Amino acid sequence: MLLHAPATLDNNARRPVQSGSAYRVDSPPAHALVRPELAEELENVLERFAIEAGVSDHRPVTVFFRPGIFGHHQVGRAADIYAVGGVGLDEWKRRWDDARDRASDAATPLKRQLVVEKEEKENLGWRLYKALQKYGHWAQPYGYPIQLFGPWTRIEGPWKKISDFLLRAHRDHIHVAK
Ligand SMILES: [Zn+2]
Repeated sequence: MLLHAPATLDNNARRPVQSGSAYRVDSPPAHALVRPELAEELENVLERFAIEAGVSDHRPVTVFFRPGIFGHHQVGRAADIYAVGGVGLDEWKRRWDDARDRASDAATPLKRQLVVEKEEKENLGWRLYKALQKYGHWAQPYGYPIQLFGPWTRIEGPWKKISDFLLRAHRDHIHVAK
């Protein structure tokens, strides 16, 4: 006789990614309705990212998801992040590119270093991407790259050989799958 409901056997089980103490999910729950293992992984990384980015309980950093359509999204195994700290990922990338230009124009190596360090500290989009890369455990289907794509994939990896097509498709959001 089965005494416990076989909840863990329910392959369709999904739940929204929840807010943490250092970050707040700003999008409607339906925008990131995913399988529990993905929700948990994202929540752990987002919390760590937000704490390292120096936000406080009083001012949690906001994160905004939008629902995806293809591939892993269809089975709740993927999520797309479009904005962090109230700024779109495309805008964070634009600021990042501007800083790179300023760094290469800098008169001395020290000035160049200061520009880069300031940007790495303040650019929440880049920081989020790096946190997802460093702390997250994402899917890698056989014969495919690790399922972390975003505006920084060609520069930072993990899949630096990302095609122009796929890079363009992720110029305004970060995609993760588990
Ligand atoms: Zn996606």
